Amino acid sequence: MAKVKFNEITKQFGTNKPAVSNLNLEITDKEFMVLVGPSGCGKTTTLRMLAGLETPTTGTITVDDDDITRLPPKDRDIAMVFQSYALYPHMTVRDNLAFGLKNLTLSTPQKVIVSLLKLLAYTLLFSVFYAFGYILDSFILRSPGVVFFSAITLSFVIAWIVYPELRKNIEYFVLKFSIGIPGIHDYINQLEEIETRVKQTAEILEIEELLNRKPKQLSGGQRQRVAVGRAIIRDPKVFLMDEPLSNLDAKLRNSTRAELAELQSKLQTTTLYVTHDQVEAMTLGHRIAVMNKGVIEQLGTPSEVYNKPRTAFVAGFIGAPPTNLVKGELTKQGKQLLIRVNEGSFIKIPSDYPNPDLLENHIGNEVIIGFRPEQVEILSIKDSNSITGTVTFTESIGSSTIIFVNLFGSEVRLSEIGHKPRKIGSEIHFRFSGAQTHLFDEKSGISLENHDFSVH
Ligand code: ATP
Repeated sequence: MAKVKFNEITKQFGTNKPAVSNLNLEITDKEFMVLVGPSGCGKTTTLRMLAGLETPTTGTITVDDDDITRLPPKDRDIAMVFQSYALYPHMTVRDNLAFGLKNLTLSTPQKVIVSLLKLLAYTLLFSVFYAFGYILDSFILRSPGVVFFSAITLSFVIAWIVYPELRKNIEYFVLKFSIGIPGIHDYINQLEEIETRVKQTAEILEIEELLNRKPKQLSGGQRQRVAVGRAIIRDPKVFLMDEPLSNLDAKLRNSTRAELAELQSKLQTTTLYVTHDQVEAMTLGHRIAVMNKGVIEQLGTPSEVYNKPRTAFVAGFIGAPPTNLVKGELTKQGKQLLIRVNEGSFIKIPSDYPNPDLLENHIGNEVIIGFRPEQVEILSIKDSNSITGTVTFTESIGSSTIIFVNLFGSEVRLSEIGHKPRKIGSEIHFRFSGAQTHLFDEKSGISLENHDFSVH
């Protein structure tokens, strides 16, 4: 169980504008929360404050109602996955995974005894090689010499260097042998526990066959899995992920994204994930917090944020291609509400717009009308409710085409399934429904609609 709460958090670096301002955010137990926003909006700073790598200027952060604002990172029971993976290059995958778990160490006298015992074990081993080599040399080469002894010893030394497992097993054997020494028993239990956890984690992430490799022998995707493994092996209260997929190529990013979502739902660990990629946010987050200039502009499920953007910024940020935003003055002719874009150029507000009464107070004001490229209906002929623009460019993106249109001097994009030929410079007629029309105040950028928006 882990519920995270940011209470009125502000972070200011020097005399600059605050990187994060009065941030309130509650992440519920087991939730996958995504912080999304453009570069420099304060996402990483927010994440680092939860990790304990930055201290808020004001405000508090609680985990399960315990104030952790000033607790050092190691005492927070929070694990972080970085964009750079941050793996130790000289360690094997097994050791990288185990690293965070190794907190029980031997005292100096225990280490001295274990080292002496190791020395004894190696001396015994070499004595056995020597005896065996001596016998073979005497009987096969018929002269006591060093040929077999050297060959056996050399093979062992090579194996000892190449296979860290061999070293471990010898050490383990010596430790077992030293079980009577106080404290060694606990240490062995800990090693066994670590080995079990490493195996379980490797199984979950399907990296069992990579355990003895070093990071440089892994692909980007495999490194990313190990980095995730290092976080999950600790079974922390909270996972923090800072753009963990951004170093992967597009195809791998898609498949790893799906794996991450599956993993989080299996482990049920409260997660805060930071990305500037809105597709990642929409596909991974149970809820997403859209940040801009240090504040959360909207918090909601992916569907709420997509269908009911609270601000023009959110409408423009979420969706690919982004929502078309056209500025103009809200006017009324008879019963018809219109946006006057230029002198003599109007966009009619669809007659099925659900909240026309809400707009009455804004008549005469500068507003922004938003409509999504994929929600327009392209018409073959003009009608009284259609909007007409001029095709400036088309772009095929697999199963559909993006049509760039000049609409009264502004560029808008329309998305159409398939690949109909369209002449540059030709007229195009389209419409969108009232339910898919978004209106925002031009100055504040806030929606004129009366949805139950949330920013906390
Ligand atoms: P990106 O996606 O590019 O990583 P971000 O949304 O994570 O961006 P932050 O890294 O949180 O943004 O930075 C927010 C603001 O705080 C930026 O203007 C940045 O320059 C500033 N900032 C971050 N860390 C420091 C620091 N240590 N000292 C001074 N300014 C900082």
